[in-house]
Amino acid sequence: MRTIRTVAELRAALAEPRRGGKTIGLVPTMGSLHDGHLALIRAARDAADHVVVSLFVNPAQFNDSADLAAYPRDEHRDAGLAHEAGADLLFAPSTDEIYPPGFTTQVRVAGPLTETLEGAHRGADHFHGVTTVVTKLLNMVGPDVALFGQKDAQQALVIQRLAADLDLPARIEVVPTVREPDGLALSSRNVRLDPQDRRRALALSAALRAAESELREHGTTDAEALSAAARAAMTPFDVEPEYLALVDPEDLRPVGSVDQDTLLAVAAHVGPVRLIDNTILTPNGGAER
Ligand code: AMP
Repeated sequence: MRTIRTVAELRAALAEPRRGGKTIGLVPTMGSLHDGHLALIRAARDAADHVVVSLFVNPAQFNDSADLAAYPRDEHRDAGLAHEAGADLLFAPSTDEIYPPGFTTQVRVAGPLTETLEGAHRGADHFHGVTTVVTKLLNMVGPDVALFGQKDAQQALVIQRLAADLDLPARIEVVPTVREPDGLALSSRNVRLDPQDRRRALALSAALRAAESELREHGTTDAEALSAAARAAMTPFDVEPEYLALVDPEDLRPVGSVDQDTLLAVAAHVGPVRLIDNTILTPNGGAER
C-alpha cells in the first residue's frame, strides 16, 4: 500500500486502475483508525476493486480548537492497519494541500439536516467543514463508491443529501456502527477516556438499549416516554445528555411517536471528551444497532 501526499500524485496513481476498468472505493477518515474504520475499509473492498483511504484531520470541521489539538494522530500505525484491512492507497495530505493559500470556497447543505442535533450544538459550520472537505475528496479521488459510518448518522445523511443535490457520481454507502463488547461505540476519541470515564461512557449505549427495550418489551411508542426511559438509564453513570432526541431518520424532524423507523440520537460530554451514538428504533418490536 502506497502513502500519497498530493492531489497530483493521487490522480496519477489512480489513472492506471481506472484505465483498467477497476472501480474505486473511498473511505474518508481522520485517522487514529479503529475497528469501525476497518469495517468501512473491508466494506469498500467488497464494493470496489481499488480502495483509497484518506487520512486528514480537517481543521474546518472542528468547532473546538482544544479538541483539534488533542485529536489523536499516529499515521504509521494507521498505514499498517489500513493495509491489513485491504486498502490500496493511503492519501494523507498536508493541510496546505487541501486548503492552499487563497482557498475561500465552502460547500453547504442548508436547513435542518445541518442545523439540528450536532449542528445545533457544534454549530452548522461543523457540517459545512465536513461537506466542503468531502466534496473535495470526492473530486480528487473520483470514486464509484464512498463509505461512511452509521455512527455519525447525521453526517451520513448530510453527505447523501450533498451527493444527490450536486449530482456527485459516487454512490454513498453507510456501514453499521461497530461497538466494543460492552456496547460503547468505537471512536477515535475513546482513547482520551480514563478508566472511570470509560465506564461512564457506557451511559450513551445504555440509553439507546433502554429505549429499545422499552419499545420492545412494553410496546411504548410515545417519544417522550421513550426519551424518559433513555435519560433514566444515563443517570446511574452520572452523565447528562447534551441532547437526546427521537427524530425522523430522513429529515431529522422531531417525532411524537415511533410509528415508523425513528432515529434516536444522543450526545454527551464524558470527562474531556464529547461522545455521540445513535440507534434506529423500529416500531414492530425489532431494533437495529
Ligand atoms: P472519523 O475518522 O471519526 O472522521 O470517521 C471516519 C469514518 O468512520 C466516518 O464515516 C465515521 O462515521 C466512521 N466511523 C467512526 N466510528 C465508527 C464506528 N464505531 N463504527 C462504524 N463506523 C465508524
